[in-house]
Amino acid sequence: MNSQKTYIAVIQCHLVKQRCSGYFCEKAFNERSGGFSVYNRDENLRILYMTCGGCCGRATHRKLANLIRMSKKRESISKDQIVVHLASCITNDNYHGPPCPHLDYLKELIAKLSLDIVEGTNISPKAESRRLEGRYKLRADQVTETDEFFSESEDEYGDGGGE
Ligand code: SF4
Ligand code: SF4
Repeated sequence: MNSQKTYIAVIQCHLVKQRCSGYFCEKAFNERSGGFSVYNRDENLRILYMTCGGCCGRATHRKLANLIRMSKKRESISKDQIVVHLASCITNDNYHGPPCPHLDYLKELIAKLSLDIVEGTNISPKAESRRLEGRYKLRADQVTETDEFFSESEDEYGDGGGE
């Protein structure tokens, strides 16, 4: 991947964003942690956040194509200066649920636009250890039709987010 990036476009799950402000994605970017640890803090990067538009994620292509067109036309930013981050709620088992079932399709759409892709945004140490222990999968097996995938509580988020 070309390291000289100008624009980071974060794609977030449209369903998850119905109850997530995106706080932990932004915090990770601000701290240059998780999926953003490859960038220096003193790099003057632009960032925008968008959702996939809802299942099956097809709107991702239109939204990113719009970004490519506008940034080229208005600021002469080329495609190779843009990098797409797929939010951790799309790529990982996490507090909000399993990874996106259309992940490969999303990647295909982004690849058609010849944009670089990075998987992940916020990576919570607590969620990482839960993934290693298989606890999210256990919860998924136990969930009933009337349950939310996970109950909403401060403890689930912990101090580092649920992804
Ligand atoms: S990765 Fe976390 S903070 Fe970012 S949109 Fe998904 S659930 Fe929200
Ligand atoms: S396509 Fe994937 S990322 Fe988009 S809303 Fe559906 S599950 Fe979420």
